[in-house]
This record gives sequence, structure tokens and C-alpha cells, in this order.
Amino acid sequence: MKQNSTINNVVIVGGGSAGWMTAAALSKHLPKSINIKLVESDLISTVGVGEATIPAIRIFNQGLGIDEAEFMKETNATFKLAIKFENWARQGDSYFHAFGFYGYPVNGVPFHNYWLKQNNTIKSDSIHDYNLAHQACVANKFAYRQFNPNDEDSRYFYAFQFDATLYAQYLRKISEGRGVERIEGKVVDVLQNTQSGTIESLVLESKKTVSGDLFIDCTGFRALLIDKTLKVGYKDWSHWLPVNNAWAVSTDYPKGATIPPYTRARALSAGWQWRIPQQNRTGDGNVFCDAYISKEEALDEFLSNLEGKPISDPRLIKFRTGMREKLWSKNCVSIGLSSGFLEPLESTSIYLIQASILQLIQNFPNGEENKSNQNEFNSLMKSRYEEARNFLILHYKATEREDTKFWKYCKNMSIPDELAYRIKLFEDRGFVAGKKLDLFSEHSWLAVYFGQRIMPKAYDPRTDNLSMEQINNNLSKIKMGINNSLDKMPTHNETLKAFCPADIATPLKNS
Ligand SMILES: Cc1cc2nc3c(=O)[nH]c(=O)nc-3n(C[C@H](O)[C@H](O)[C@H](O)COP(=O)(O)OP(=O)(O)OC[C@H]3O[C@@H](n4cnc5c(N)ncnc54)[C@H](O)[C@@H]3O)c2cc1C
Repeated sequence: MKQNSTINNVVIVGGGSAGWMTAAALSKHLPKSINIKLVESDLISTVGVGEATIPAIRIFNQGLGIDEAEFMKETNATFKLAIKFENWARQGDSYFHAFGFYGYPVNGVPFHNYWLKQNNTIKSDSIHDYNLAHQACVANKFAYRQFNPNDEDSRYFYAFQFDATLYAQYLRKISEGRGVERIEGKVVDVLQNTQSGTIESLVLESKKTVSGDLFIDCTGFRALLIDKTLKVGYKDWSHWLPVNNAWAVSTDYPKGATIPPYTRARALSAGWQWRIPQQNRTGDGNVFCDAYISKEEALDEFLSNLEGKPISDPRLIKFRTGMREKLWSKNCVSIGLSSGFLEPLESTSIYLIQASILQLIQNFPNGEENKSNQNEFNSLMKSRYEEARNFLILHYKATEREDTKFWKYCKNMSIPDELAYRIKLFEDRGFVAGKKLDLFSEHSWLAVYFGQRIMPKAYDPRTDNLSMEQINNNLSKIKMGINNSLDKMPTHNETLKAFCPADIATPLKNS
């Protein structure tokens, strides 16, 4: 068998999270004979946000052989068990999308059906009382445990909230240690083959040229290679995800602050506000749609809702929700913001970077003409983007709010067929439809369906195989188990202090 790789030189352009995540992973997993260079310009800043993640990031870090405590110290990271949604379905509502499980299935019937049946008979406790991660968030608790199906104290997954700039720097150290060559310089021209249009080299401001066989566009919203050079189109999804601007600042913790193990997403008049706790500060921002509110009004609304004292000037970031028609075209793969952006509500961007890197490694080309890897990569990434998009749209569509034009629009907008189909299945009989490779589990969909006040009209008929008494006993047993687990759990502050205290200027005050 002939195995003759024609890819000897990979050039990554951009040194934000996407660039350095790509460099770290390729230098770990590709054959050592492949030369990897990363070009970045100190004159062009990174987007500077992207601080909340989902549990999949742990798989990425583990794949790089990263020590979790060291990584957390280096990036001022905290643990993330959930996102707290406030004012989404109705003003005054609040729920967590927690990375935990709702109860246990019985005879193959998912737990929520038993809860629904009980709720139809007597007014049950909230379904969220049966999710340990949800309750841990309410109590600001977190225990450093790995999920084990036989250990009821560990029925959750976790992610991180960190300083994205420090994460990129941390990965840079790892990448350079593995032989990645960093080239500082601004790319001012891109040279293409006159016949095929493939990219041959980059010209830097210093006149230096950098040539390669495969180019990875990690230039953020500038999309220097995939858009400005190859002119690959963009699918605009702003009719489903209308927010298009963000204000971002960092804030100080008040003295003695309790650091919550979750990100907050508070719905406002024409968008929502995030609060992402790190060990030494929080990242705050307000995402809004400028068709419904001016940027000045959005800034006022944002600043009046800030809890800490700002320690940076507010920065405005503009974006358009959607994705590239193709993430991989010719010999260029776009990863990160150059490939698309949905909006930060469910912290899916870093996951999409990770998914792109994995797909690139699995479909790494061994010949210029081999289009099958490209097609596979593009089709898988399209599915990933669409699934994340649909999950996000659910939060906006499933609202009862009509108090502003923005929410009225969201409530009444048309939605993708696949999402409409999933919602209908849940409404009709509590069935959580899913696909094999779904990013968000059945429990995530349940959290958002219930949190957004979508109540099924009926439950799975197999639920009637258990008597009401059996159901009541089962539910009380689960709740008691969760309360026991919670009693033993340390606070999030205590776990951070014991496991990964960052070397920060302001020492933590434990709650
Ligand atoms: C408001 C907002 C909030 C977000 N929140 C989250 C979140 O909570 N969780 C999450 O997962 N994601 C979030 N994201 C997305 C996340 O920030 C990005 O996915 C992530 O930071 C990756 O960005 P990037 O590396 O693609 O681009 P950037 O960080 O913009 O980096 C681009 C790089 O390209 C370089 N560059 C550009 N042009 C040139 C040139 N001509 N020559 C040389 N170098 C060049 C720049 O110097 C820079 O190094 C958010 C995004 C936005 C807009």
C-alpha cells in the first residue's frame, strides 16, 4: 500500500484560542515529520472573550495530556456545573441548565415521565430537585469527582470558566515545546496558485513569505483566508439568532465573594447579559440586537445590571450569527470565529473549535486531490453547527415574553423544521428526540424544555406499569439521595482553594 503524504507543512494563521488549540492538538497527534508553523500578529488583538466552556473541553485537554489542576491555576479557572437562565420564559423565572442527570430511568422509561405522572396527580416538587448538579449550583457547592455510574455522589459532569487569553498562552507553551514554530507578523497578502486557486504562501508586512501545503484560518472574524482570499460564502442565521453585538468588560469581585460554579445568562430587553466567574475576576457582557436597541441604550442597561466594579473599559464586539458554506475549501480549513459564530449563550464556540480540530485530525489529507476527507469534514461540521444552533434557538422561541419588540419577534419567529419536530414530540408525549452524536444530552434538553416552561401533554404510557405508590417512593428515595450527596459536598470556593488556587494578586476570601 502506498502511503505518501503530500502534506509536509501546515501553516496556522491566528494566535487566539482557535489557533493555539489547533497548534497544540496537531503537534500532539499528527506525524512528527509534519512541520507546523503559527503566524500571529501582536498588532491585531484577539477577540478577548470566550471564557465559558462545556464539559467536552475536558476530553480535549486530556487528549493533550494536560494536568487539570495545573491548567486551572494557569488560567484562573473555576469549575462550571451549569448556566443559570434568568427571565427567559417569563420575567422573574430562573433555572439552571446543569450538566447533571434527572433521576434514573425505570424499565427503560426516562425519569421525567414518572415525575410527570406524579405531577398530574399531586403537585410534585420541582423536577430540578432531582438533579444533583442543579442543586449543587443552588447551594454554590462543587466536589471534584469524576462521573461513575455506580456512585450517586458523582452524577454530573463539569466544565470550566477561565481566562481565554491565558488559555491561549498556556497552549502556546505546550505547542512550542512540541516543535511548533511561532512567527510574529501581520499577513498582508495571500498568494494563490493561478490555476487551482489553492493557497501557496502568505506575505508578511516584513516581506517575509511563509509557504505551506495546508493552511488553517484562525484569524477570527477577519476570516483572512477562507473569506477574503477564497471567498467562501456565509450562511446567515440572524433571522433565528438575531443578536449581533456585545459589550464586554471585566469586573472585580466584592470582598469575600462566593464564587458560583456556574455562568449566568440574564435575559434583558433585547438580548441577555452574561457573568462568568473566574478566580480573580468575572467576565461580563451584554449580547443584544441593534435592530431593537441602540448600542448606547444597551450599554446603559448592561452597566446598570453589573454586580462588580468594572476593571476594564467596555468593548463593543460586532458579529453576524451563522456559518461558512464550507469550513474546508481547497487547501484551507477555517477553525474558530473565521468558520462561523452562533452566539455565546450555551458556550458552544470553543466546543466547535475542538470538534473541527478532531475532524481535521481524523480526516487529515494525504493527497491534494483527495476530496473525500474534505466532504466528510464539511458534512460533519455542518451537523455540529446546526445542532448547536437549534438548541440555542429553543431558548428564544420557547418564551412567553412579549414585553419588548425583541421578545415578541423571538416568540413568533419561524424555526428550523428539525427543532419544530423535536419540540412537538416533547409537547405531545414528553419524548426527547435526539441523534447518536448529539452534543447536548437528553438531560440538557430536559433542563431547557422544562426551564422554558414547555410541559408535555402526556407521559410515556409504559409509566403506568408502576403504581402511584411505587412512583412516590422512588421519587422520595432519589431526592433523599441527592440531599445526602449535597450535605457532603464542599463549597465551590473550598474546592478551588484545595485543588487549584491560582496565583492571583487578590487572594480569595472563602465564603
Ligand atoms: C461576545 C462573544 C462572547 C463569547 N463567549 C464565548 C464563551 O463564553 N464560550 C465560548 O466557547 N466561546 C465564546 N465566544 C467565542 C470565542 O471567543 C471564540 O470562539 C474563541 O475566542 C476563538 O477565537 P479565534 O481564535 O477564532 O479568533 P481571535 O481570538 O479573534 O483570534 C484571531 C487571531 O488572528 C490573528 N490575525 C488576524 N488577522 C491577522 C493577520 N492579517 N495577520 C496575522 N495575524 C492575524 C490575530 O492576531 C489573532 O491572534 C464568544 C465570542 C463573542 C464574540
